[in-house]
Amino acid sequence: LMQLFRPLDLLGWVYRTIRQGLIDMAQMFRLIDTPVEVSDVPGAPALVVRRPTVVFDNVVFGYEDDRNILHGLSLEVPAGGHVAIVGPSGAGKSTIGRLLFRFYDPQSGRILIDGQDIAQVTQESLRSAIGIVPQDSVLFNDTIGYNIGYGREHADAAAIEQAARDAAILPFIQSLPTGFDTEVGERGLKLSGGEKQRVAIARTLLKDPPILLLDEATSALDTRTEQEITGTLRRVSQDRTSIAIAHRLSTIADADTIFVLEAGRLAESGSHTQLLRQGGLYAEMWARQANERLQKVAE
Ligand code: ATP
Repeated sequence: LMQLFRPLDLLGWVYRTIRQGLIDMAQMFRLIDTPVEVSDVPGAPALVVRRPTVVFDNVVFGYEDDRNILHGLSLEVPAGGHVAIVGPSGAGKSTIGRLLFRFYDPQSGRILIDGQDIAQVTQESLRSAIGIVPQDSVLFNDTIGYNIGYGREHADAAAIEQAARDAAILPFIQSLPTGFDTEVGERGLKLSGGEKQRVAIARTLLKDPPILLLDEATSALDTRTEQEITGTLRRVSQDRTSIAIAHRLSTIADADTIFVLEAGRLAESGSHTQLLRQGGLYAEMWARQANERLQKVAE
C-alpha cells in the first residue's frame, strides 16, 4: 500500500511546489516583467545575514544593451534602517527592487547585502532573506489559513495565528463563522484591498525575512486604510531593514532616508524635512501631491 501512496505523496509535493512557484511569480509581477535567467556561480555559498545592510555600489544596468536605466547608482541602507525610493515614473524605482531580488545582474557595479555580493551567493538564500509586500496581493482559492501559512513551510496553527495577529487581521478572521477555514479568493469570500494586503503582510511575517521590500505598499487603498496599513507596516518593519518603493509621498515621509531617483540617477537624498528645505525635486513632488490632495478634498 505504501508503494501506492509514495507517488501520490510526491505528486502532492510537486503540485504544491508548482503552485507556490506560480503565486510567487504572480506576486512579483510588477517587479519582474520579463525575467532573464541568472544562475548561481558554481559552488556559491549561501548568503549569511547578520547585519542586513544593503549597498548599491556604482550600479550600471539596462534591460537592453543600448539603453541604460541606472547610470552608476550608489546608495546605502544601514542595518535596521527604513528607507524609501521615490521619483518620477520610469526613473528606475522598481528596477532597483528587481536587481536586489536578482532577477537581473548589473552590467557593472555590485549589490551587497551584509557585505556579500548578491551575484556570488545562491539565489535561494538571497530570496529567502527578502520579503516582499506587493501592492496587489494574489490569493489562492483556498482557506485564509492556507493563504497565510504558505509563507513558511510546515507553519503550525499557532504561528499562523500569531502572524495574523501581528498583521492586525486576526479580529477580522475570528469574526468569520469558520475562522481560518474560510475559503477566500475568486470562489470564496472576496477580501478588500486592505484585507488582502494584511494577508500578504502576515505571510511575510511567517517568512520572517531580515529585509523587507515594500512595493508601493499602500497606493491602492483609501486614506484611512492606507494609514492603518502604514502603521502596521511600520510595526512589522521595526527590527528589519526596509526599502519602500513609493509613489505617494505621504506614506514615506517618516523614512530615515528618502532616495530621490531621476532618470536612473540619484538626484538627492535625505530626510523629509531636509529634502523639503533643499527645495529640489522632492520638494516639487511634495508640493504637487499636496495640491492634488487638496483638490480631491475640494471635489
Ligand atoms: P513607475 O513609477 O512608473 O513604476 P519606475 O521608476 O518604477 O516607474 P521602472 O519600472 O524601474 O521605473 O522602469 C525604468 C525604465 O526601465 C523604464 O523606462 C521602463 O520602460 C524600462 N523597463 C522596465 N522594465 C523593462 C523591461 N522588462 N524591458 C525593457 N525595459 C524595461
